[in-house]
Amino acid sequence: MSLAETHILDAHDTLAPIFDPDAFRLTDQQAELTALARRFGQNSLAPRADQWDRDAIFPMANFRDMHANGLLAVCIPTEEGGYGADYKTYMLTAAEIGRHCGTTSLTWNMHVCSTLWPGVLADDLKMDPQARREHETRRSVHYARIVNDGAIYAQPFSEGGAAAAGFQPFGTTARRVEGGWIVNGKKIFASLSGAANYYGVLCTEEKENLSRRDTLYLAIPADAQGVEVFGDWDPLGMRGTVSRNLVFKDVFVPEDAALMPKGVYFEAATTWPHMFLTLSPTYMGIAQAAYDFTVKYLRGEMPGTPPVKRRMYPTKQHAVASMHITLEQTKALWFQVISEAGPNPTKEQMLRAYAAQYTVMENANEICQLAIRTCGGQSMLKTLPLERMYRDSRCGSLMLPWTAELCVDRLGREALYERGESDD
Ligand SMILES: Cc1cc2nc3c(=O)[nH]c(=O)nc-3n(C[C@H](O)[C@H](O)[C@H](O)COP(=O)(O)OP(=O)(O)OC[C@H]3O[C@@H](n4cnc5c(N)ncnc54)[C@H](O)[C@@H]3O)c2cc1C
Repeated sequence: MSLAETHILDAHDTLAPIFDPDAFRLTDQQAELTALARRFGQNSLAPRADQWDRDAIFPMANFRDMHANGLLAVCIPTEEGGYGADYKTYMLTAAEIGRHCGTTSLTWNMHVCSTLWPGVLADDLKMDPQARREHETRRSVHYARIVNDGAIYAQPFSEGGAAAAGFQPFGTTARRVEGGWIVNGKKIFASLSGAANYYGVLCTEEKENLSRRDTLYLAIPADAQGVEVFGDWDPLGMRGTVSRNLVFKDVFVPEDAALMPKGVYFEAATTWPHMFLTLSPTYMGIAQAAYDFTVKYLRGEMPGTPPVKRRMYPTKQHAVASMHITLEQTKALWFQVISEAGPNPTKEQMLRAYAAQYTVMENANEICQLAIRTCGGQSMLKTLPLERMYRDSRCGSLMLPWTAELCVDRLGREALYERGESDD
């Protein structure tokens, strides 16, 4: 689908871009995709965001629309029916989506990474020619399902132990059998559970000693025998992600269900570590949205509230100034990091990536809490979106493998020690 074919580009757009295409020197494709996301966000996502949050239900209507407007296939190459967005283009587009519905942006991220990581990221990794050919054939099957049928992919990695943080092999295992694998294990916090058509599961090849180098990334059909969704989901924020638990009991997965060849996920995690920043654009969008809300509210222009102006008070002006400074600092650092992302980053680039992830996740919540304090009591009523942004924004720092705590841990250690150095 070409961008010109999407009717969304004709819909109303009253917001300035988060990253102005001229000022930030975006490519034409980046400018067009971010415009598409912004219009789609205002016209379709924002009006529905409250229902997914209130009832903690998955935003299926949004995903159906994203199939229709091509966004499910944003990172699929153009020759295979997608928009062919690279990492930076995806990140910028996702920030505009997150501005309107955190839940949709975060779950869309899980889906999109199932094409971005085996796609442009895998193209940068070492593979022998036969493995590369096999990988390209297999990923085309996943791409076709998404482009033609609107298939939705989830990314359940977390298990409640140290594996999702990258310190241990995944406890979910895959035993090699004739024609494929038998998968056993349990995942927690599986966003899109019960809604996705495929679960992109990280697991370890079953051997005497499990090794992170033997990580497999398999797309398990949601309706495969032995797959079960269980547990409740009634969290503080990001409620529409429906991140329940999954259990896999002797699930047979054919060989060609692999999203990456064995060992390539491990290679990706070490060679292309900026892949773990892909949770951040959602929160970049929320930070912008909380700021936008505050300006509109203080100007007396927020729909659904009386046209009372509050902008003339110096305390409000100081608070908005402070929010603006925090927002600009966040945008500048994040934009630099997504611009320089690529294989084999330098030490300096790695430290900057941790700093950017920490900054976006913590500042999104900081801006939301300042927004509520500044706008006042009426702004935290559930009839307005700010209190949802506040709750959603709190979740960013908790997301492995780069939680705010772990970013600080890694930053401190890696700033003071060179690779392989110790004090013994
Ligand atoms: C809204 C939402 C959606 C999510 N969706 C998904 C999803 O789709 N797929 C998925 O795989 N996961 C998902 N997650 C899960 C997320 O990435 C974490 O796995 C989950 O929040 C873990 O919570 P926990 O308290 O069990 O973590 P714990 O492992 O108990 O860690 C708690 C904290 O301790 C710190 N910590 C953890 N390990 C170490 C260590 N080795 N050293 C030092 N500090 C450490 C970290 O800061 C961490 O935040 C989602 C989480 C949220 C909030």
